[in-house]
Amino acid sequence: MLNEPDKYQDLRDAVRQLCRQFPDAYFRDVDAQKAYPEKFVDALMAAGWLGAMIPEAYGGPGLGLTEASVIVEEINRSGGNAGAVHGQIYNMGTLLRHGSNAQKEKYLRDIAAGKLRIQSMAVTEPTTGTDTTKIKTTAVKKDGRYVINGQKVWISRVQHSDLMILLARTTPLAEVKKKSEGMSIFIVDLHDAIGRGLTVRPIPNLVNHETNELFFDNLEIPEENLIGEEGKGFKHILDGLNPERTLIAAECIGDGYWFIDRAVKYANQRIVFDRPIGRNQGVQFPIADTYIEVEAANLMRFRACELYDAHKPCGAEANMAKHLAAKASWEAANVCMQTHGGFGFANEYDIERKFRETRLYQVAPISTNLIFAYVAEHVLGLPRSF
Ligand SMILES: Cc1cc2nc3c(=O)[nH]c(=O)nc-3n(C[C@H](O)[C@H](O)[C@H](O)COP(=O)(O)OP(=O)(O)OC[C@H]3O[C@@H](n4cnc5c(N)ncnc54)[C@H](O)[C@@H]3O)c2cc1C
Repeated sequence: MLNEPDKYQDLRDAVRQLCRQFPDAYFRDVDAQKAYPEKFVDALMAAGWLGAMIPEAYGGPGLGLTEASVIVEEINRSGGNAGAVHGQIYNMGTLLRHGSNAQKEKYLRDIAAGKLRIQSMAVTEPTTGTDTTKIKTTAVKKDGRYVINGQKVWISRVQHSDLMILLARTTPLAEVKKKSEGMSIFIVDLHDAIGRGLTVRPIPNLVNHETNELFFDNLEIPEENLIGEEGKGFKHILDGLNPERTLIAAECIGDGYWFIDRAVKYANQRIVFDRPIGRNQGVQFPIADTYIEVEAANLMRFRACELYDAHKPCGAEANMAKHLAAKASWEAANVCMQTHGGFGFANEYDIERKFRETRLYQVAPISTNLIFAYVAEHVLGLPRSF
């Protein structure tokens, strides 16, 4: 391991111990079969790691974002992919912050006990993309229910979740003063919904990250499934995005260290021209360079966690951490691949799998340009571009 023990060492050791039961070969096999890592997720749920941020009042340990970020970092650092589970941590937060007491009582205890999955959040739509305020999915109130019509795309883990948080328009865009108003969020019970107004179509993609297209055709959901205030859903969802970005930054940090560990090991072992390839500065400098980048990104990740846990604004830091960490892990992936030469392409080394997995974070959950736009306009005060 590359770093000195830190104050989260006990937590790191506990998560690593669980992850050791799921070696590279497990994830390689799951990836080859394009399957979901069921056993791994069950083990994480049973150990309570995915309910880390649920307060003690609802049966959770009440840990902070910092500890939750250490958990996902360790999963990725152990060769796994927290992308299969991270939704459970941040979606729960939306319910915790904006749910009614009845909703919290109904769901949070079971989530903390590892009995209920809230892995999915449906925001993105095919025709509007990042321009979220233009979403076309509607929720119309009728006889004590909301009737949902529309379409979503790229929605993760739907087949492996009990609940999904859905963003839909409750007031048409033309009738609101601000474009961010008039949208609402709902809890969708997926077992009730699929086949009764909700159709799910998987989208095979570059990584073994389960994503789906969703079609809503007069799906009815109970009125009490509205989370928070009607019309304020966009704001409620945004509140959950800082933890999401920060957790993903931590996953990228875990990936970054994993790639560097592997590159260093191989560069020390592989003999070409009668010496370890790592003796060549052309091989060692890129590894050192990427290590510096990961270390620097890690500082911003902990800064974002610290601010969030202190209930201070952390939008800039969460976005910057995600950007720096995603960039650093992708660089580390490239360097690791290059260090391994041809062997980096062999499935059995796991590098190509992790290479594909870490590439996602330049695009989702927010693409690089949109982070630049946020920093340029909200932090630096440059003119709005959209
Ligand atoms: C594997 C995977 C899992 C996902 N899981 C989920 C999920 O669970 N739930 C969910 O809601 N969504 C999910 N997404 C969607 C993801 O959040 C979006 O793909 C991402 O936000 C980018 O949106 P888009 O694909 O619509 O790109 P677009 O908005 O179409 O943008 C395309 C490109 O143009 C750039 N661009 C667009 N507008 C501008 C501008 N004004 N200035 C500069 N550049 C611009 C973007 O940065 C991007 O590079 C997932 C996506 C993937 C690939």
